[in-house]
Amino acid sequence: MDGVICCRGMNFRSLLPAASLLLGLLVSSNCQAADPTPVPAASRKSPTGIPKGKALEELTAGNKRYLSGGVMTHSWLQERIEVTGDIGQSPSVGVLSCADSRVPVEMIFDQSVGDLFVVRVAGNYQSPDAAGTFEFGVEALGVHTLLVLGHTKCGAVNAALDGANPPGNMPVFIRAIRPALEAHAGGVSAIKSQTEAVEINVRWQLQQLLARSEILRKAKEEGRIQILLGVYDVATGAVRFLN
Ligand SMILES: [Zn+2]
Repeated sequence: MDGVICCRGMNFRSLLPAASLLLGLLVSSNCQAADPTPVPAASRKSPTGIPKGKALEELTAGNKRYLSGGVMTHSWLQERIEVTGDIGQSPSVGVLSCADSRVPVEMIFDQSVGDLFVVRVAGNYQSPDAAGTFEFGVEALGVHTLLVLGHTKCGAVNAALDGANPPGNMPVFIRAIRPALEAHAGGVSAIKSQTEAVEINVRWQLQQLLARSEILRKAKEEGRIQILLGVYDVATGAVRFLN
């Protein structure tokens, strides 16, 4: 595993000062000794992250690595941290996800430091805060894909489905999610399962996000951003893309 980690990190050699390059070579050499299996060049990621138009393919592949235990923990390689810290971030995919501790976004897609631009909130609901964050990601940082990611057994969605009235500030996510379920054809009573409610919420939150953000809507219309929807299964670790 370490060999895979370090060899993939070598993509960034050309961006580093000579001293770091020498260190990288030494580390690479050690890693190859630990795991001589070369990483096919075709499977290596671009040093600038996920290429435009390849997000679905890359995220699917990363999730498969996560499921197989073959993750590239190069994600946390010091070399990558140094590169992004030095030249700045250029994340590829904006992700609106739930705060659920079972959905660690970078891990389930096996992505690196600097790849994903993530907003996490219980029930992965859109808001002006999320819209502003993604607008910044698209306009200033080069985010070319937006993913709204729900997950099975989502407590926030289930609470909205049940029409719960929790204390404190928690109704904020009920108020954000319940309209999605009520807008479903046939109403809330027609929703057959919790997972269906999660899918309905994912689709509706995306619609609302685009409806309320002229910048994101225009970026989509001009083909500058690709839209993805997905549901993560907390029991299996698999992401099922809806589009
Ligand atoms: Zn959740």
